[in-house]
Amino acid sequence: MKLTHHYKDELAPLVSAVKPVPLSDMKLALVNAELAAEFDLPDKWWQHNNLNEALHDPASDISRFAIAQKYGGHQFGHWNPYLGDGRGLLLGEVTSSSGKQCDLHLKGAGQTPYSRHADGRAVLRSTLRKYIAGEALHHLGIPSSRSLCLFTSHDTVYRERPERGAMMIRMAPSHIRFGHFEYFYHAREQDKLEALFKFTFNHHFPECKKADNPHYALLRSITLKTARMVALWQAYGFVHGVMNTDNMSIHGITFDYGPYAFMGTFIPSIVFNHSDHEGRYAFDRQPGVALWNLNALAHSFSDSCTMEEIRDALSQFEPNFLAQYQAVMVNRLGFDEVTADTVSLLNDWLDMLAKQQRDYTASFRRLSLTSFEQQRSTLRDDFPDRDTFDTWWQRYYEAHQRANHSYNEKRAALLAINPAVIARTHLLQEAIDAAQQDDFSVSDALIEAVKHPFDERYDNHKFSHPPVDDAQVSLSCSS
Ligand code: AMP
Ligand code: MG
Ligand code: MG
Repeated sequence: MKLTHHYKDELAPLVSAVKPVPLSDMKLALVNAELAAEFDLPDKWWQHNNLNEALHDPASDISRFAIAQKYGGHQFGHWNPYLGDGRGLLLGEVTSSSGKQCDLHLKGAGQTPYSRHADGRAVLRSTLRKYIAGEALHHLGIPSSRSLCLFTSHDTVYRERPERGAMMIRMAPSHIRFGHFEYFYHAREQDKLEALFKFTFNHHFPECKKADNPHYALLRSITLKTARMVALWQAYGFVHGVMNTDNMSIHGITFDYGPYAFMGTFIPSIVFNHSDHEGRYAFDRQPGVALWNLNALAHSFSDSCTMEEIRDALSQFEPNFLAQYQAVMVNRLGFDEVTADTVSLLNDWLDMLAKQQRDYTASFRRLSLTSFEQQRSTLRDDFPDRDTFDTWWQRYYEAHQRANHSYNEKRAALLAINPAVIARTHLLQEAIDAAQQDDFSVSDALIEAVKHPFDERYDNHKFSHPPVDDAQVSLSCSS
């Protein structure tokens, strides 16, 4: 493994050097062995407290070049130039054997010039939620940052109440956010903006460099990646929670999710973040917000693109989002093609789930476990309004007959796209409660499950069951 420092070296005026200040009595509680192996990270890191000691030693290779990045962001629609890594430090970049570059980013290691009087710390509750979400999203095929490891501590960190502190290392292709470009554009720091573009082309979007207008190609590429990510969020019932532009990655990966949730009962307008009073980031508003955010990003491209080019790049969002969303969703019903017929079946299925308040993920899974030919089923028993269900089922059955395939042919494909396991809020809470007592066995079991979300061993397992009481949960933004 070779740790590089391209961002720090090539963009020195855009960063601040900061030494990590670890928590006391830190213990390594979770390690993502799969990710560590992919990037060929040294085994010795996980042995004899080696990485822990390196983080405590300001002269070690891993701590020596740590930096905080400057960025801004539109938060709940309002521009805020005062943001930046307030409690995260870029330790460096690593490259996998297949040539994939990834940042190592330490979260919760103390204050930085961008902490704005906050403590620079992270709490165990939200750190563990992020760790598990990264694995859950990744193994559902939804691009996301991932966590490499998590450290616990007995230090107290004050949020709405005293909590246990924790630190983690996150990995992502880069930590460049929409808000990075926005900041240097709005600050009228032209040289820095250009340097950031140059870095982005060279290290992350080399394919755009060859285009007639590389900036246009980049905006278009970010738009397409974002459309794909949000299509998958909508398909799997993921609610990000804080889609501010400082939490949007240019790589179209799920990033900086705080009060996120995988939806239980299907309520299209559901909001989980209890600070989001207006429902700006409600489940069904995420595609529109993503486009709004791309629009905010696009302002930073206005010196390098014509209005026509910007409009053209952003106009890619809607058709690409819709095509990908519909393709996944009709696949989830067992159909190969998006047609007027399959889309109408999909819309009526979703309408039925919403009106009859069914669990989103469990309903798709149960559908996958039900033969098309079966008129009476446990799936049917789930719907209080059986007449509506029977009418829909008859159409669904006939559409499969017309498509000329049997359930036996489709079963494996259906089970491979409709998960049994998602990172449900009540399961995360059980993992957190045990972890607060230094018991990570509950987390380990849940992580194993979210890494195999389609595995039939989890059908009829508590991990695939909706909570008994799925009253709308509300999650704190403080992390
Ligand atoms: P977030 O809501 O986590 O996306 O953070 C928004 C901004 O606040 C970012 O600039 C963070 O670095 C900063 N921030 C959040 N929590 C803390 C904290 N505990 N200490 C310092 N900065 C923080
Ligand atoms: Mg953030
Ligand atoms: Mg954050």
